[in-house]
Amino acid sequence: MLENSVDHPPVLNAQDLRRSFGPTVALNGVNLKISLGESLAIMGPSGSGKSTLLHALAGIELPDSGSLILDLPGQSRVNLQELKDKARTKLRRESFGFVFQAGLLIPELTAEENVAMALMINGTARQAAMAQAGQALAALGLAGMEQRRIGQLSGGQAQRVAIARAQVTGAMVVFADEPTGALDSATGAEVLDILLDCTVGQGKSLVMVTHDPTVAARCDRVVKLSDGNLISDSRQGSSTFVGQTR
Ligand code: ADP
Repeated sequence: MLENSVDHPPVLNAQDLRRSFGPTVALNGVNLKISLGESLAIMGPSGSGKSTLLHALAGIELPDSGSLILDLPGQSRVNLQELKDKARTKLRRESFGFVFQAGLLIPELTAEENVAMALMINGTARQAAMAQAGQALAALGLAGMEQRRIGQLSGGQAQRVAIARAQVTGAMVVFADEPTGALDSATGAEVLDILLDCTVGQGKSLVMVTHDPTVAARCDRVVKLSDGNLISDSRQGSSTFVGQTR
């Protein structure tokens, strides 16, 4: 948690998010403020609305109603709900990183190309993007594996590639969906260490869906959902948590 986050308003401020699928209420008026530099775990039973909330917060699938204010340092405050699709996609690519359990990495591409892709989409020229990707991979212990395709990597290595891709663009908010869910516990713990280092360790925010209490316990804050309602919001390691959402 960064000291300066005390002075900064929430980087993401979600108010009264509502989403229904036919008769199913997936989000029933969720309010959530996320601080810069904070790690937040979203927990709850299957079907409680975790993925819907994560996708809403990340501007992937907007809720039916509510507001979602993104307030990044040095940038104008925006309500994602009010942006047109194209502008929202651009903002998402520039400001958010994603580490999901599976998918998102392109199996036909090498590790380096997967990471470079995130930069090229944002306008970096190929050569510069590949050089930056190589550095990002090396920093995560993948030197020598840049040219391997994703299928030629272990699950833990593939997640490192995903983390490299999520952080190489400088995105200040990283969303993760069960990032260690497919890994054995030792590899999962290693990947979680790296994910925390690359996010909160650099003053970024991490918003993570997890079923695993040991993973959640590593986060500054845990919120629990039940039937689309946020039923608890607890902070841990209070000695290190100096920020407060308003
Ligand atoms: P969780 O991630 O906690 O398992 P979800 O957010 O995926 O929960 O789903 C919340 C509720 O919304 C569930 O009842 C689920 O069946 C429903 N739901 C989610 N996505 C869809 C969809 N695309 N179509 C219909 N129902 C959906």
